[in-house]
Amino acid sequence: MSELKPCPFCGQPPRNDNAHHSYPLAHCTNQDCVGSWSTVGAGGSEYHWNTRPLEAALQAQVDKLTALAKKMVAFGEIWEAEGTLSETEAELFDAAREALEGGE
Ligand SMILES: [Zn+2]
Repeated sequence: MSELKPCPFCGQPPRNDNAHHSYPLAHCTNQDCVGSWSTVGAGGSEYHWNTRPLEAALQAQVDKLTALAKKMVAFGEIWEAEGTLSETEAELFDAAREALEGGE
């Protein structure tokens, strides 16, 4: 059994409830959360609990944008050293640098 990810709705730790069922079952430990109700499908809910297609798609997009921002910063540093960086380009490279640092 793989380790269960935190609840996709509230981030609280999930709980295996396999002892009371003949199939894998996981649900959120927060009783006020919609994740405290679980569903079981093919492969069992443990499998479905850890499946996050939207997160995976968003992470892939973040990875692409991070790679693009790193290229922008690298070019910005080269052009800045060469003295060919325009004011508009400098603003874009600063924004890319801040995005990589997690700033605004
Ligand atoms: Zn939850």
